[in-house]
Amino acid sequence: MKQSMIVVALLALAAPAYAQLGGILNKAQKIQEAKGKLDDLNVTEEEERTIGEQVSAKIRQRFGVVQDPAIHKYVTLVGTLLAQQSERPNLAWTFIVLDTDGVNAFASPGGIVHITRGALGLITSEAELAGVLAHEVGHVAHKHAVNAIRKGKAVQLGANETLSSRGPFLDKIANKAYDIVLENKFDRNDEMDSDKVSLTLAEKAGYAPGKLADFLTRLDERNKDQPASNGLFASHPDTQARIEAIRKQAGSRNGAVVEARYKANVKYKPTPVTAIATVEDGASGLTGSTKAGDKKEDAKKEEEPKKKGFGLGGLKQAVAPEKQSAQVSASGGSRGVGPDRAAKGGSNPAPVKVSVSNAEVAEFKRGVA
Ligand SMILES: [Zn+2]
Repeated sequence: MKQSMIVVALLALAAPAYAQLGGILNKAQKIQEAKGKLDDLNVTEEEERTIGEQVSAKIRQRFGVVQDPAIHKYVTLVGTLLAQQSERPNLAWTFIVLDTDGVNAFASPGGIVHITRGALGLITSEAELAGVLAHEVGHVAHKHAVNAIRKGKAVQLGANETLSSRGPFLDKIANKAYDIVLENKFDRNDEMDSDKVSLTLAEKAGYAPGKLADFLTRLDERNKDQPASNGLFASHPDTQARIEAIRKQAGSRNGAVVEARYKANVKYKPTPVTAIATVEDGASGLTGSTKAGDKKEDAKKEEEPKKKGFGLGGLKQAVAPEKQSAQVSASGGSRGVGPDRAAKGGSNPAPVKVSVSNAEVAEFKRGVA
């Protein structure tokens, strides 16, 4: 009797402690679960699209959209023809022409591909356009942006965030994805992979594979006097190495070039790289999360060796150098942002909605000859 009373008393004393311990274990387990999810970065296809829409909205805000349904229709026909040959033909593929002289192309997760007016001006045939668009389709099809975030473990969940609150988690991924997409921060393997996809899809669609190499050659020539890495494929494997790899893979495989239809549909002229108007560092187009993201990336690069030991608390530690770097380089220029990346954009971010039917795509494909 006495003994059991002691036990009861002990239990009573211990109960709150147990409850507390249970709570801690619960929390630890939740964090562990969250980390597990995060490592896998299990975003559903729907979430991937949500992220992509956010990224696209920022890109459109930054560069504006050419308010011309005809050019959107043409680019969408070429892009859809290619996307249909991809491993993810059923995504809601969307093709957007950005209103800037800068030469660039951006692939948002979930199937939203952007190409600039400047890029269209530098491209000389439909097969080249196909090469560029198919490269971007490759980034989407193989989920390079989302995978890059996972590999970098750049998105951290706070201790109080659970997976039931997906919104902030997805927002973080979207911000990170925007930085990766905008600055073409895909790694060498992803670039080479997308080049391979480009060759495959272009050929399947009937185009001469490897025309992407012609475009890259022209771009490289155009950029030869640029001190900073610039725009499209900027931070990528050495452009010459890519060109050689593409040419080697393309070999003597043939296909249509389709120059006449391209020239009939695309009237843009290329702007010399030295004549591209740019936004001032700190001006509207480059501020906000983009800017913060830029610094974050730079800070990260500098902090690379340190970063390895970072756990969940890592983000906080990374904040200080970030802020410093933002102050130091606020004067701009020195950061090595080339004119394509810093190019001024149009003022209208509204998407231009066009739809293409399967019959239209099939009819369009007959012109690839
Ligand atoms: Zn790329």
